[in-house]
Amino acid sequence: MVKLNDNFQKLPGGYLFPEIARRVREFQNPAKPIIRLGIGDVTLPLPPAVVEAMKKAAGEMGHKETFHGYCDNYTNGAYDFLRFAIRDDYRVRGLDIADDEIFVSDGAKSDCGNIGDLFSADCRVAVCDPVYPVYVDVSAMAGRAGDFNGARWSRLIYLPCTAENGFFPALPEEKADLIFLCSPNNPTGAAATKEQLRLWVDYANDNGSVLLYDGAYEAFITEDDRPHSIYELPGADTCAIEFRTFSKTAGFTGVRCGYTVIPKALVRDGARLRDMWNRRQGSKFNGVSYIVQRGAEASLTPEGRAQCRENIAYYLDNARVIREGLARAGLSAYGGVNAPYIWAKTPEGVGSWEFFDKLLYTACVVTTPGAGFGPSGEGYIRLTAFGDADATAEAVERIRAVL
Ligand SMILES: *Cc1c(COP(=O)(O)O)cnc(C)c1O
Repeated sequence: MVKLNDNFQKLPGGYLFPEIARRVREFQNPAKPIIRLGIGDVTLPLPPAVVEAMKKAAGEMGHKETFHGYCDNYTNGAYDFLRFAIRDDYRVRGLDIADDEIFVSDGAKSDCGNIGDLFSADCRVAVCDPVYPVYVDVSAMAGRAGDFNGARWSRLIYLPCTAENGFFPALPEEKADLIFLCSPNNPTGAAATKEQLRLWVDYANDNGSVLLYDGAYEAFITEDDRPHSIYELPGADTCAIEFRTFSKTAGFTGVRCGYTVIPKALVRDGARLRDMWNRRQGSKFNGVSYIVQRGAEASLTPEGRAQCRENIAYYLDNARVIREGLARAGLSAYGGVNAPYIWAKTPEGVGSWEFFDKLLYTACVVTTPGAGFGPSGEGYIRLTAFGDADATAEAVERIRAVL
């Protein structure tokens, strides 16, 4: 009889979003239409430059002379035009990433999950707490998280991120091999400074650890002193892998395109991680469609960038409305300046789920209880800025009215 990967049996059933959906469904006869500030998905349509590029590419696919089959360069998943455009995007910030250190994929979620293939099953994984749940689940499936006791995984190293430490984790006492960092952060909305990140770069280089740096929201950074890439830190090229995506930057959540950077200087145990990933992708992945790659390229042209910036400004304006509105309502609200997320402290003595219920039942506004992102998320809720501007303003007004 076949033996299964019994790590799957250890996973708790998806709880957070199904539970939110259940409570919203069972909330019969709301006095007002429900407004959702819990969604983690973009809502504005694709930038016109992207749509035009994909239409043109689809047309090319219909002619023998311009048809594209497997991507020639399938080992790193990208056509030269896209890798060069990404390389140039790093160059604008003065970063010298070689085009063969850039691997294009169908998104950052896949890459965050698949990168584990390069490492031994007994590596110790550290995650921020609260955390984007993907890092925890993929670690558990690979057998690196140990057992779940209803609140915590036995082998994960939790790095608390709270108002007290500015939502940036301190170095752990136990030695961590793989460290997931996400900045600007989902769910807290905090963006790390160079000084904060330097601690972790030095730690990883000193200990032979690897930083897995998720930069999905780098385009939302508005404060000049926050690094957009981990490679802005000296020494990061010998210890860090960076994940990026067009999902939140260019509205690609339904189109699917992201990329991962692994510098050739990142060597562990005598092996270049870049070469291992190249081999892994060559065997298990056949690249992203030509049409999508043309769309992604278009988002990096001057016209495409301007259109993406406009959409991001729309979301960041929502974020400002939420942040300022919550503050006026007497809540401590964090984030929302360099990220589309606002992380708000619940009133004294009120738990995450209790506050979620209160806002649902009285203001008819859906948020996300912070406790769903990890033990240190208790006492917070997350609000997202991806909604419609008018609905967002109304939701904030309603919250103010009921508090
Ligand atoms: C949305 C998001 C991603 C994007 O994943 P894709 O698979 O590229 O759509 C990655 N990381 C974080 C933290 C996110 O919130």
